[in-house]
Amino acid sequence: MRVRIHRGAREIGGSCVELQAAGESILLDLGRPLWATPDEQVPLPPAVGLGEPGPLPRAVIITHGHQDHWGLVPQLPDGVPVWIGKAAADILRAAEFWGTGIDLREQGHLHDQQTVTIGPFTITPYLVDHSAFDAYSLLVEADGRRLFYSGDLRAHGRKPGSWRRLLESPPQDVHAMLLEGTNLRDEHSPGESLTSESAVETDLAATLRNANGLVVVLSSPQNIDRMVTVYRAALRADRDTAIDLYGAEVAVATGRDTIPRPAPDWPRVRVYMPVRQRVRVKESGEFHRTEAVRAHRIFDEDLAASPGSWVLCGAYQWHVPAMIRAGLLDGGVVVWSMWDGYLVEPSGQRFTALLAEHGVPMHHHHTSGHAAPADLQALIAAVQPATLVPIHTDAPHRYAEVLGYTATLHDDGAWWTV
Ligand SMILES: [Zn+2]
Ligand SMILES: [Zn+2]
Repeated sequence: MRVRIHRGAREIGGSCVELQAAGESILLDLGRPLWATPDEQVPLPPAVGLGEPGPLPRAVIITHGHQDHWGLVPQLPDGVPVWIGKAAADILRAAEFWGTGIDLREQGHLHDQQTVTIGPFTITPYLVDHSAFDAYSLLVEADGRRLFYSGDLRAHGRKPGSWRRLLESPPQDVHAMLLEGTNLRDEHSPGESLTSESAVETDLAATLRNANGLVVVLSSPQNIDRMVTVYRAALRADRDTAIDLYGAEVAVATGRDTIPRPAPDWPRVRVYMPVRQRVRVKESGEFHRTEAVRAHRIFDEDLAASPGSWVLCGAYQWHVPAMIRAGLLDGGVVVWSMWDGYLVEPSGQRFTALLAEHGVPMHHHHTSGHAAPADLQALIAAVQPATLVPIHTDAPHRYAEVLGYTATLHDDGAWWTV
């Protein structure tokens, strides 16, 4: 089996790996690089059938719903089937209305530990813990050789069972392991907290107990683990949780009734819509969206009546100025529950300044979606690959230094053989 990383050998995000066997090929992920601005045209990688002459890839397998893994799929020519987890696909369809998703029109769905055969490739997905819901690592076999691609994963989220299982019954006889190394960052790049999601819950519960007023947790509506964390912390502090409509639609799209959502069996979950979302629904005329949550909505007057009994969770950052004007954040707290790097950007600096100007404290409760170095070490020790290859990292040279395992660096665009 031949392999070529198109992007990711020295870069976090935009991952794409091409595999070739018996004259056929597949792609693992087809991401948009994180450095690309929204209207920037990023060409497809020059894979066989896309940029180089030859038959089209037999399939594109998307490990999870982050754009740095699927973002170039819309540019595929017709006739290339896309595979992804069902919940991951449904979440992206739900997010499309809100401008951050897509209907991938996938041909097939990945299921945990259910092997699929595509041409000469046998693919076994392993459900993993990541900040995107329904994420997989992939074991691919062809020509009698076995490649294990980690995708994005971590040990410290809300799926400790899937991580444990990966260590206890790892894929066997792996010839090459492509391992993400997001957190092996160079010293100069901003790192992320690596505390556990349950520690975030405990810390957030303390913030909620100590605050007298409204607490607004700013997080990505697609980060289901974090929404569960906020909901659980709210229960511990005896507060009710209100999510935005985007988050509510994503929660329903998971298809899991164990995920908090606006429904009769979740009496402590409500929906609070920021102005932006109300406007979007109004302009689209898609009033079935608000109708679906009508019985569960709360409004400014509910928050004003007892601000200390609520926590808001979702994409409320653009709504914070209106909440300040309405006095809803008097005695309240804003919790930044995303990557701190966003706060360094001009919009983030303006946001920080606005809170400071109005005396609204900002707390930070967050953890990375990617594994800590010690967990990566444990995974390598469990899988025992013949060859370790860095991907999804800006510090491939640190694998040996930090992890203590010699890695073989294959540059973007270079073919190698498993
Ligand atoms: Zn990624
Ligand atoms: Zn990811």
